[in-house]
Amino acid sequence: MSTEENERTDFIRDIINDDLRTNRWGGRVHTRFPPEPNGYLHIGHAKSICLNFGVANEYNGKCNLRFDDTNPMKEEQEYIDSIIEDVRWLGFDWEDRLLFSSDYFEQMYQYAVQLIESGYAYVDDLTGEQIKEFRGDVTTPGKDSPFRDRSPVENLELLFRMRNGEFTDGAKVLRAKIDMTHPNMNMRDPVMYRILHATHPHTGDDWCIYPMYDWAHGLEDSIEGITHSLCTLEFENHRPLYDWFIDAINHARTNTGLIPIHHPQQTEFARLNMTYTVMSKRKLFELVEGNQVTGWDDPRMPSIGGMRRRGYPPEAIREFLSRVGVAKVNSTISFGLLESVVREVLNKTAPRYMGVLDPLKVVIENYPEEQTEYLDAVNNPEDPSAGTRKVPFSRELYIERGDFMEDPPKKFFRLTKGREVRLRYAYFFTCTDVMKSDGAQLDTQGNLIPEGEIIELRGTIDPLTKGGDSPDGRRVKATLHWVSAEHSLDAEVRLFDRLFTVENPLGEKGGFQEFINPESLKVLVNCTIEPTIGQLEPGERFQFERLGYFCIDPDSEQENRIIINRIVGLRDSWAKIKARTGKKK
Ligand code: ATP
Ligand code: MG
Repeated sequence: MSTEENERTDFIRDIINDDLRTNRWGGRVHTRFPPEPNGYLHIGHAKSICLNFGVANEYNGKCNLRFDDTNPMKEEQEYIDSIIEDVRWLGFDWEDRLLFSSDYFEQMYQYAVQLIESGYAYVDDLTGEQIKEFRGDVTTPGKDSPFRDRSPVENLELLFRMRNGEFTDGAKVLRAKIDMTHPNMNMRDPVMYRILHATHPHTGDDWCIYPMYDWAHGLEDSIEGITHSLCTLEFENHRPLYDWFIDAINHARTNTGLIPIHHPQQTEFARLNMTYTVMSKRKLFELVEGNQVTGWDDPRMPSIGGMRRRGYPPEAIREFLSRVGVAKVNSTISFGLLESVVREVLNKTAPRYMGVLDPLKVVIENYPEEQTEYLDAVNNPEDPSAGTRKVPFSRELYIERGDFMEDPPKKFFRLTKGREVRLRYAYFFTCTDVMKSDGAQLDTQGNLIPEGEIIELRGTIDPLTKGGDSPDGRRVKATLHWVSAEHSLDAEVRLFDRLFTVENPLGEKGGFQEFINPESLKVLVNCTIEPTIGQLEPGERFQFERLGYFCIDPDSEQENRIIINRIVGLRDSWAKIKARTGKKK
């Protein structure tokens, strides 16, 4: 695709367009997504994934999936597997470029040797405490370490012995020799290697010195020939260091007749932040460990696994992130925007079914006991190609308890005694009798039904209204969903809501966990649903007419019962609450 055809504009694409125009990288666009395999991915990572893979796709470039596995202490295979699954689920492909930083350990070591040889790095014996102390702070310049002027020969020998395992953890470090008074703290002789006698998931016990993130990160991009190193704003003041490392290596290399290494361009963009959630691996860990959620894939979590289980379609996540765009300034995006994009996508794609979450029995007295009719129901009014299905109708139905009121207020147009409503795709129905419990009794699940509670409605249909239309043009004010009692299936439905009650849980006084929404999960165990749903696979998404979008939870298979997650309601109920109370939070 030519750059002119690329209508999407943001500052990163502007930079790429410029680079292509000036032929800065020989026409190449090569990006990467570089997760540390120390946790599960969240929607913030998805922003980086969609940006990196997205621009590579748009410019016929390449994007690597690279595990930044330089820290053996926190990294696990389980995270690697889940990250791979998540990126793939989001719809991206790294072809044969599944890469690991640990594969470059030897190469990085050689670069460190070159820096030492040219006097750009030294082995320091100061303790961690002392290094911190010598570093100064933003207002105080740092002090040189007494070991700073060791000769290259001595430094080379010490680094070799560090690698050889001759010293204990923390006994020595390798540092860059830059400037202990530099206004940018990252430039005050940063540590490049530390001693860590630890087994690495990938390199096993090959190494007992490990590169620090800042030393490794830019080199990884260089080794892979990355052209556009896209990262979040907090790395902006690390860029001078990454540039310094590569410039110093190249200086050292040219001194000894070696060819210079590739120097990528880092560009920073704003992290994704969203309302009503937290977006940091560490905070999400705390929620899992504190059992505030059921796990990393709890459908309330902003993790990719949580969103997948919740039923958010990957195309909705991609579309959401494309609408959010990339910018240079941090901002917080409304969770409602994500939900509205999810709704938009599902409105077009999700088949419609009927399910009753809070069932109330209805007996149709003028309908034969033994009869079942299979009525035609439209699968998706937004998509005629989705066709129709047959829904069984019989004498006993369930409707939503909330669709009936004995003493309705003025604006209640649904069912009440003596009123006619439409049963979706079926008949006009009039309620003639209300049956109540005549003394406390138990329902089929063993729950207590208090005296006087409505347990059943009785009424009649007009047989001439089959299909839901009246031949005489008679109108009704409400259409109710229903299921046939005899044919319906039982299900558990889990309703999710925002995980936190406040927009910015980290901005409040006290721990963010104090603001967990106690109503963020409601489990409805007595739901009854149309039989077609029994054939759906875990993960399949659909709409329950009038109720929202739902999907089959993967646990259904193991537990051999139907568990359904609500993905999102049909409307933004939070917007309504805000409008009603007139409160702008
Ligand atoms: P966290 O801050 O949640 O602990 P992290 O930044 O430590 O995550 P990494 O594995 O280092 O996680 O991140 C991989 C990539 O994802 C990095 O390039 C990082 O900049 C990017 N990234 C992480 N969080 C966000 C976010 N909220 N928005 C956009 N990009 C992000
Ligand atoms: Mg990080």
